Amino acid sequence: MIIVMKQGATPTNVESVVNRVEELGYKVHLSRGEARVIVGIIGADDYLVRSATFEVMDGVEKTVRVMQPYKLASRDFSQTDTVIDVGGVPIGGKRIAVMAGPCSVESREMVLEIAHAVKEAGATILRGGAFKPRSSPYSFQGLGEEGLRYLAEAREETGLPIITEVMTPGDVELVGDYADIFQVGARNTQNYSLLKALGKTDKPVFLKRGISGSIQELLMSAEYILSGGNMRVMVCERGIRTYETATRNTFDINAIPVLKQLTHLPVVADPSHGTGKWDLVGPVAKAGVAAGADALMIEVHPQPERAWSDGAQSLTLDHFAELMRELEAVAQAVGREI
Ligand code: PEP
Ligand code: MN
Repeated sequence: MIIVMKQGATPTNVESVVNRVEELGYKVHLSRGEARVIVGIIGADDYLVRSATFEVMDGVEKTVRVMQPYKLASRDFSQTDTVIDVGGVPIGGKRIAVMAGPCSVESREMVLEIAHAVKEAGATILRGGAFKPRSSPYSFQGLGEEGLRYLAEAREETGLPIITEVMTPGDVELVGDYADIFQVGARNTQNYSLLKALGKTDKPVFLKRGISGSIQELLMSAEYILSGGNMRVMVCERGIRTYETATRNTFDINAIPVLKQLTHLPVVADPSHGTGKWDLVGPVAKAGVAAGADALMIEVHPQPERAWSDGAQSLTLDHFAELMRELEAVAQAVGREI
């Protein structure tokens, strides 16, 4: 349940409401919008809270029962789109953020080369996996901390913030020492101990939709992180498993506008994993932007045919630069910038 404060509510009014909620034994989350403050009550029994008749308190406009099982992630909680600042790069808002880089960090030279090239082409964030969730235990598992060091060096050289995957709660501290954004992969969307650990951190979290996960399950996973106190979460459509075998996954374009309706969190499209084929990445990236995505995640590799993972869906550096140019017109057509 949320309590919407009046536009002119004073700090004392807000404090009294917060005190009353805490007296009832619940946790509070305050959202300070441009015009008004919203008091979110976490874990509240609606009847109990309602019986406390918050409506009669000074400065309170109304109480709203959030019908969805996710509360802090819902549009009811915040009408305004959340914008996450990552080292000066906004995610959400008018400008579409582009996270580009290799599927896996393979070597220092390769990451530095890619970082410079994607920055030159207009990417705003560097991606790269150091801990890789591979379907086979015999596949390359990532360089681990060595890979994180190369990413950090690439950030030093280019100024691009870095996003990289964390797979277990035990790695949160180590990955957090290097990363600007934690990535939670599709295989870990419902790894609740990981989500709880990330809820206690103060770094943004990029949460992918599960391979066979519904949109509601994705938002419930986001809720785990938000309810832990970390409000900087973005959600990503990366394709789901269907009966279709022509592509690696089926990119659910519907998920983009549906998520924009249901949540205030930034919505990201990942056409690389969404299609699994490099020549489909451009069309689906454009569709994602047209459908309202706030950011894109795109895999690039200087020599995709030699990539240690996901080569088939990786763009060459030239193809990536070309796509960035083409995306400008699409972004403009829907009132965005890239
Ligand atoms: C990745 O981003 O390289 C990755 C492993 O993605 P996903 O979790 O969507 O499969
Ligand atoms: Mn990948």
